[in-house]
Amino acid sequence: MAKIAMKTPLVEMDGDEMTRIIWQLIKDELICPFVDLKTEYFDLGLKMREATGDQVTIDSAEATKRLGVAVKCATITPNAARVEEYGLSQMWKSPNGTIRALLDGTCFRTPIIVKGIEPVVRNWERPITIARHAYGDVYKNVEIRVPGAGKVELVYTGEDGVEIRELVHEFAGPGVAQGMHNLDGSITSFARSCFEFALSTGQDLWFATKDTISKKYDHRFKDVFAEVFEAEYAQRFEEAGIEYFYTLIDDAVARVMKAKGGFIWACKNYDGDVMSDMISSAFGSLAMMTSVLVSPAGVYEFEAAHGTVQRHYYKHLAGEETSTNPVATIFAWTGALRKRAELDGLDDLAAFADRLEAATLATIESGRMTGDLARITTLPNPQTRTTREFIDDIKSCF
Ligand code: NAP
Ligand code: MG
Repeated sequence: MAKIAMKTPLVEMDGDEMTRIIWQLIKDELICPFVDLKTEYFDLGLKMREATGDQVTIDSAEATKRLGVAVKCATITPNAARVEEYGLSQMWKSPNGTIRALLDGTCFRTPIIVKGIEPVVRNWERPITIARHAYGDVYKNVEIRVPGAGKVELVYTGEDGVEIRELVHEFAGPGVAQGMHNLDGSITSFARSCFEFALSTGQDLWFATKDTISKKYDHRFKDVFAEVFEAEYAQRFEEAGIEYFYTLIDDAVARVMKAKGGFIWACKNYDGDVMSDMISSAFGSLAMMTSVLVSPAGVYEFEAAHGTVQRHYYKHLAGEETSTNPVATIFAWTGALRKRAELDGLDDLAAFADRLEAATLATIESGRMTGDLARITTLPNPQTRTTREFIDDIKSCF
């Protein structure tokens, strides 16, 4: 059988630990036998980041800007323990953070829905996609541990000498204070990425902040979204038959719990951090969550939402077969291949991505799955498969 041809290469970002093992298995067993795979390969494994002074991460992001579509394996974000384990010369930054900053992108996380893995919220029938703003707020804050009585002020000094000064608090005793910021440019990019993603997936977009309390900061987010929507998207949304809906964050949380799903929920950085963990665990499993970074320029980077599954990797190193779930990583590949197919007009490549996803879901629905799913499935008599067996099962469903 002739292999399916590609035109433009994908940017392939390899990673660490168990997901690196799974990465190779997916390529060897599920993709390369069927597709004449073209990639520009970047090894983002921690050893190569150390060897290149993290230049490889920057190069992979630049390649993504050039080629348009990337697929990324989970990578280690080093902490003190990793510095020791890998003999690192420094605590390299999170590759995801570096790539996000270079692409100015927004991360969209969507649960993979399959029969037998039921959401704990009964009325959720379709996926809820979380869009998390990836810049600023508490993640770029400055904090003070206030030692005792005294005054904390927020001061802006303009290049033209204009000064704005606000009293934060007149402290009578010890306490804490923090300063946060965000940028109109970043909020605008975030808004555009969300509107674009809503249009490209044909789903409504919800956005929520606490603008009743945060009358300048959060209100700016609300206004930027409204301005971008009116100026650039209102017409296109109407034509597509989808809606943009703004509400308060607490109202949004209440509505999400009562909704049927099938929409995108845009969140400020902290809300997105917290809510994406709630949504993913309520839908079943972090291993069943895909993630795509979309830049306002229309560049896409697909990945799994989970990490490198370190605990399983050490078992693997000890010679044990593990039952690590490869589904989110498979869907990162199919998402990237489908987007590449769409951009290059390759119908058979798009059909391949659809078939591989269908085979993956059919395998689970037939009762064969990895341990994490077997523990929570509503299907009778599930069979727990090792990663390798599960991938073979998918191949035989093809
Ligand atoms: P993790 O890799 O997501 O795993 C946490 C636990 O969740 C696992 O121990 C496992 O539970 C379960 N799990 C996650 N994915 C699974 C899968 N595919 N199949 C089965 N079970 C799965 O998070 P972590 O152990 O906290 O972090 C490990 C490394 O990943 C860290 O170095 C971190 O920096 C990195 N990380 C990378 C990314 C990324 O690149 N996008 C994201 C998050 C974390 P059991 O052990 O109970 O089976
Ligand atoms: Mg988090």
